[in-house]
Amino acid sequence: MTVRVRIAPSPTGNLHIGTARTALFNWLYARRHGGTFILRIEDTDRERSREEYVQNILTGLQWLGLNFDEGPFFQTQRLSQYQAAVETLLARGLAYLCYCSEAELEALRQSQRAQKLAPRYDNRHRHLTPEQRAAYEAEGRRPVVRFRIEEPREVVWHDLVRGEIRWQTQDLGGDMVIARIEADGAIGLPLYNFAVVVDDLEMGITQVVRGEDHIANTAKQILLYEAFGATPPAFGHLPLILNAQGAKISKRDGATSVDEFRQMGFLPQAFTNYMVLLGWSPPDGQELFAIEQAAQQFDFDRVNKAGARFDWDKLDWINGQYLRVLPPADLLAAILPFWQAAGLADDDGPWLLDLVTLLGPGLTRLTAAVAAVYFADTVTFEDEALAIARDHRHLLADFAQVLAAANPQRVEDADALLKSFAKEQGVKKGALMRPLRCGLMGSLHGPDLLQSLMLLHRKGKAIPRLQGIPA
Ligand code: GLU
Repeated sequence: MTVRVRIAPSPTGNLHIGTARTALFNWLYARRHGGTFILRIEDTDRERSREEYVQNILTGLQWLGLNFDEGPFFQTQRLSQYQAAVETLLARGLAYLCYCSEAELEALRQSQRAQKLAPRYDNRHRHLTPEQRAAYEAEGRRPVVRFRIEEPREVVWHDLVRGEIRWQTQDLGGDMVIARIEADGAIGLPLYNFAVVVDDLEMGITQVVRGEDHIANTAKQILLYEAFGATPPAFGHLPLILNAQGAKISKRDGATSVDEFRQMGFLPQAFTNYMVLLGWSPPDGQELFAIEQAAQQFDFDRVNKAGARFDWDKLDWINGQYLRVLPPADLLAAILPFWQAAGLADDDGPWLLDLVTLLGPGLTRLTAAVAAVYFADTVTFEDEALAIARDHRHLLADFAQVLAAANPQRVEDADALLKSFAKEQGVKKGALMRPLRCGLMGSLHGPDLLQSLMLLHRKGKAIPRLQGIPA
């Protein structure tokens, strides 16, 4: 059977790392089996769904390189299919209209709470007589459609990740609402579990792979497949992504949306590499790989059941590994948006390439490459660096003169110039380096000094900086 898998985000927020990881695992599985990866936007919650989030999901998936083969399909455009499916269940007597008011349901919940029982609908409108129904209608009550959940019963499936899962229908909260009825009597947009089943059936989904927070939904969904006389797809539930304390990762842990990770300076190929490791490990134990490589080996039997701990150090390490080997032109393309966002501009291509070549090896995140000091006209000094530069301002001004006269064009020439200048001054070259760095860069630490000097000199910035140390 051809593999058909999907990612089904709700556009009620930006693309979340949990959704992105689920998308990635589905994508890996589809690519492994030459299958189809489908995007479905679950936008039935009209109040919370927004177009901007749809866009964020689309651009996020694209940035990650998770190309889909079909879709995006939108649930709000599929009302007629859901209506027909509701009609089918009503006609088969597997669903019914429930007229309970919100106040009645709340009273029910309260009495259950008082008896320390789990809240559940008690199926009270399952067997209304036509007269009772007519009476409720006459009252002007608007019903919902409920699906009958037979109890007691055990729902069992073999989960692709977690093995056998057993769920008791008594624990599903009673007959479940699958759709509301509109004021004009029409069947309205369905609820999550129902729409998902109708869609997954119609889209021929073969494996439903999602976060483990959906396990209870799976039990309900399997019952719906049965009601439609259909064989359910296989199900797989991925471990949650946890923070360092073992709780579900949240905004407080630094970042949760894919867009935030992009803005923090992670490369998409490093970020997807890291996400693969959030729950899966390749048989060969490798830690650095392109997702296309991972796809050749991916299977659910190596997905962990236990939660996946999010590890910033590891993500940084992986990102650094990718940055180190990125060709300068690619590195430049990756850094440019960060420079632009910081208002740093220069259209001197060769100079920019040399600058990223200098910065690349020391980077863990692209944000660290903003390095405004190379673009600025004046230096922003750290206190200690300013003190050192001040103490050597005459020496630095002298060196500026030598630099102006010799006008070196290559790092080797600058090196030779510095050596001869040191000799003239009767100091060691090493002793010159610190004040020079402080005067040029305003800081005691940073990328290679001679290369930095040459980059600044090429832009005419080195001499005025060395001459202009504040007194
Ligand atoms: N819309 C659901 C979510 O975002 C999809 C769950 C599923 O994959 O069935 O969690």
